[in-house]
Amino acid sequence: MYKSFLIKYGEIAIKGKNRYLFEEALVKQIRYALASAEGAFEVRRLQGRIYVDALSDYDYDEVMEALSHVFGVVGICPVVLVEDEGFEALVKDVCAYVDRVYPDKHMTFKVHARRARKNYPMDSMQLNAALGEKLLLAFPDLKVDVHHPDITLCVEIRENINIYSTEHPGPGGMPVGTNGRAMLLLSGGIDSPVAGYMIAKRGVAIDAVYFHAPPYTSERAKQKVVDLARIISRYTGPIRLHVVNFTDIQLYIYEQCPHEELTIIMRRYMMKIAECFAGQDHCLGLVTGESIGQVASQTMQSLAATNAVCSMPVYRPLIGFDKKEIIEISEKIDAYETSILPYEDCCTIFVAKHPVTKPNLRAIERSEQKLSDKIEGLLQKALETAEVIEVEGKE
Ligand code: ATP
Ligand code: MG
Repeated sequence: MYKSFLIKYGEIAIKGKNRYLFEEALVKQIRYALASAEGAFEVRRLQGRIYVDALSDYDYDEVMEALSHVFGVVGICPVVLVEDEGFEALVKDVCAYVDRVYPDKHMTFKVHARRARKNYPMDSMQLNAALGEKLLLAFPDLKVDVHHPDITLCVEIRENINIYSTEHPGPGGMPVGTNGRAMLLLSGGIDSPVAGYMIAKRGVAIDAVYFHAPPYTSERAKQKVVDLARIISRYTGPIRLHVVNFTDIQLYIYEQCPHEELTIIMRRYMMKIAECFAGQDHCLGLVTGESIGQVASQTMQSLAATNAVCSMPVYRPLIGFDKKEIIEISEKIDAYETSILPYEDCCTIFVAKHPVTKPNLRAIERSEQKLSDKIEGLLQKALETAEVIEVEGKE
């Protein structure tokens, strides 16, 4: 029954000049999200508001679902827009609205009128009282409750008149694209997809890099990462996924370096490679799914050793999260079922029995000197042979 949706967004971040950029990005992301829904839609900005108009039949739940993935959206209100044809016409429209949306009228309500257009002949208080009275007359089962009503009927006098009474929560955050771009180190695990979601929530667009080690890791493990990228791209927008063949580098490290340092040294090379792609893709930082103390390679000392190879900032949005909290978000964004599929990961294959938990940076650097013969060539090759997969939310 609704032909339009009123999109509410946070006002705090959009003072002054930022407002235009924020709204432009939001409109773009709404269009992207709606592309995966059946039907034709128009997204338009009007006087500090964003409306989605359905130009064809559509599936209500599907549209709600799509809009609820757009960062920057605070609320989604299915709205009825009517022309201003005088108060009596408005009464008819409001009654018709209530009648259609609420077949059972045993409920309390209040009218919340707002005038964005001050030339309307009645002010908000008068409208509240007059519309309330007409509704009580039309539907004797209704009762007014101004403090805790079952429904709040919003009537906003703008160019058109907006009538709505429900607001579905959006994900909040800022529209993707308003805060630059970052390179996500995306594994097939639980954490890194959540990290990508979290950073995108703050308006950062993402690209990703995945390290695989064929034949030790399978094609299915790689497909799982592509699937995860697709799942988070419903929130983040399109992701350019770089798939790096890491096998030769890993084998070389395995041959040359103490095994308890493998994970740290591997991680350092992952960061270096990720940073190269980040530079190419105009990223302003790297993103990982690390959280302090979760495993040996995520102690403060290990993080410091990993961090030391990067010249770009490394963002770790999950740094203070417990696994349980991360899993909750993973489930919420529908990544969890995919993340827990039991495919091998390149880090688990070459893992040492007793990895160092307090690596010493100087010692690690000394171990890495044993790689000096071939590592530059191997890095070069890994960069050159990387595959690029453009991932989008649509199947
Ligand atoms: P995740 O659940 O994200 O795999 P994890 O708990 O398994 O994390 P680690 O294996 O220590 O933790 O990895 C830490 C971070 O390093 C990951 O969150 C991810 O950002 C990055 N990372 C690890 N392995 C890979 C990989 N094969 N490809 C890309 N990034 C990786
Ligand atoms: Mg992992």
